[in-house]
Amino acid sequence: MLPIVTVTIGAIAGAAIATAVLLRDPAPDASVQTADISTDQSGATASQPDEKTAPPEISDTGAGNEAVEATQEPELTPAAFVAPKAESVTELVKTISVGKGDTLMRVLTRAGANRTESHEAIAALNEVFDPRSLRVGQNVTLYFDAGETSNDASPSLVRIALKEDVDKQLAAVRTPDEGFTAQETVLDLDKKMVRAGGVIDSSLFLSAAQAGIPPKTIVDMIRIFSYDVDFQREIQPGDKFEVYFERFADENGQILKDGVIRWASMTLSGKTISIYRYKTADDGFTDYYDEKGRSVKKTLMRTPIDGARLTSGFGKREHPVLGYTKMHRGVDFGARRGTPIMAAGNGIVERASRFGSYGNYVRIRHNSEYKTAYAHMKKFAKGIHAGSRVKQGQIIGYVGTTGRSTGPHLHYEVLLHDKQINPMSVKLPAGRKLGGKMLQAFNAYRADIDQNVAATPLETQLAGLK
Ligand SMILES: [Zn+2]
Repeated sequence: MLPIVTVTIGAIAGAAIATAVLLRDPAPDASVQTADISTDQSGATASQPDEKTAPPEISDTGAGNEAVEATQEPELTPAAFVAPKAESVTELVKTISVGKGDTLMRVLTRAGANRTESHEAIAALNEVFDPRSLRVGQNVTLYFDAGETSNDASPSLVRIALKEDVDKQLAAVRTPDEGFTAQETVLDLDKKMVRAGGVIDSSLFLSAAQAGIPPKTIVDMIRIFSYDVDFQREIQPGDKFEVYFERFADENGQILKDGVIRWASMTLSGKTISIYRYKTADDGFTDYYDEKGRSVKKTLMRTPIDGARLTSGFGKREHPVLGYTKMHRGVDFGARRGTPIMAAGNGIVERASRFGSYGNYVRIRHNSEYKTAYAHMKKFAKGIHAGSRVKQGQIIGYVGTTGRSTGPHLHYEVLLHDKQINPMSVKLPAGRKLGGKMLQAFNAYRADIDQNVAATPLETQLAGLK
């Protein structure tokens, strides 16, 4: 991807909005300095100046962000993100797009910043920014004080800023005593609820896409319903779907990103399933529930590891280390050292420590009946210790071969009333079912949502993000 470079020079007098105008529409005659900063590290498209539509790498910051980034138009710069008031300081502003293999240091020095100043600015920025989250295509904006030069005669760096999300900007700003300080700006976006839906022709994905529902929202919807609906077999032409989700707009009403699904429904062969996003007050977990207050998720995953193969089942076998026949009270999954291991369900970690022949061992209590245990780990994931709360799918540790083990694998146990059972044959219990006061609270919430949904017009052709 060719880095997009905006070079603006001008006397910026105070008002932030002036800077915004300059950024949006740099006058050609104001572009004085065009340092050689278009050399992409990858060099791949350097000879194709028109090639600026390559999508940025997929990131987990949501579809909205990708859509905005992908346009590569002059960056949308809400007033609040613009540089601080610079009282008649002659400033240079450069915006550089992060290329493949770039580090922040590389980006800054490519833009002409002095190494020492870059280092100071990055050190400050790292208080609010994880350097590993730097994305290809992400824009970094540098502000130089053209009236002052650093010791190697390059213009002095006064500020670097990068947009983390459509509503979040991080910056390192020079302080009067010559150092840099971190700054985080979060825009207060207006939230608007959208209700969209349609009739399914062939697949939910296609029909939802045709209705203009953002891809990330469709994927979320499919995931939510995947515990109840067999998307391969159950969908018939004429089935219906609806989704009620959050959208965020700036002060001009421009939609900047999509939020979570609050409610969704599918009508399959005349039967409607509705699900509600709901946070249970007693444990603080947010999950999706059906109308009866039952979690759509199964409590436990059978295979709490991705891309692993079952290497040893549950039952009697000749022990590979001890040599005699012994009951194998779990199942083994062969996987490469360091493969992430996930919590099989929501719960509380009972133990995360060395445990005899189990080596590094984690045990999670899911409810009054079920626990799961994970052995021979190389190490525990950050924040996993006795008492910590984990969510289904959360990484709790990494495959290793600690304890009595012949090679890297995960030994996984499911315990019912503290006795190991075979995770492959057991009928796993359904997810949480709300009862008593919890169910009452849920029902009140559900009635609210039903009312809000009914009051929101159904859109069958949604406008996309601009
Ligand atoms: Zn085992």
